[in-house]
Amino acid sequence: MEVDCENCAGCCVDWRALADVPERANHERRGPQEPLDDAYNLVPLTREDVRAFLDAGLGDAMTPRLWTAREGPSVDVQGREVAAIEGKPAFFVGLRKPPKPVAPFGADPHWLPSCAFLDPETLKCRIHDSNVYPEECAEYPGHNLALGVATECERVEARVGGERLLDDEPPEDLSSLLFGPQAVGEKVFAYPDPGGLPDGVLDRLAAGDLTDRDRAHFVAVAAASAPGTTAVEPERRRNAFETARDAESWVGEAVREWARRADRDEPDPGLGEVVEDARGAPETPGWDALDN
Ligand code: SF4
Repeated sequence: MEVDCENCAGCCVDWRALADVPERANHERRGPQEPLDDAYNLVPLTREDVRAFLDAGLGDAMTPRLWTAREGPSVDVQGREVAAIEGKPAFFVGLRKPPKPVAPFGADPHWLPSCAFLDPETLKCRIHDSNVYPEECAEYPGHNLALGVATECERVEARVGGERLLDDEPPEDLSSLLFGPQAVGEKVFAYPDPGGLPDGVLDRLAAGDLTDRDRAHFVAVAAASAPGTTAVEPERRRNAFETARDAESWVGEAVREWARRADRDEPDPGLGEVVEDARGAPETPGWDALDN
């Protein structure tokens, strides 16, 4: 597998506004379950990824995804019929996607929903090769190739042109795909006691308005899950909840500032320096630095 990522970040940015992609082309909203949130290409974190983010003080970088169930097992939570496992709401944990001033594919800069860890100026990942680099990102688009489904690289090629996917042979050393029953407790989690969720949490999730405490409830269950089961370890859950709720990393602060600036500032990718670097975000080398 070989990809050309320079000046792209198509898998880390919701770039569709740059190419007039129709809403019906949204591959995440075609199946029997529809995400409640409107994030594009949410990165599903494994349980170990979630624990690594918590240990690194980055609990405020994560956010849950639940699905409205069009068919299949479901449960009513706060008036919404959501997809369920063993009668418990199913969810992913992903990374937050604030609006950032980015200019992929040589386009003019725009405010586009972008991964919390994407450096808007270099369009490179701030945690690449670190111990919190998500498994899904490390293997993208290998899973898609192995499953024979479209990759974001190909969607970008089709809409924007150029060649992104240079060799479509999936790598041999992919981790297990973690779909189906073996994903439970590893990548898809089950919320054990939804009656105890804060009032209005699903409405806030749908509106992109979750609080730190809301997100922490889901992050804690994911961190305290166990492979192949919907069981949750209570003490680990308590500790993880407090760690996630109290996290005050550069990510959480930057997400708040990006939201404020997107309403009033011109989309200048150089703003990453004051909004993220100045708060302690890991710097990224430019593409030139890698070429040398
Ligand atoms: S963690 Fe890095 S590679 Fe993964 S979506 Fe975010 S910016 Fe992209």
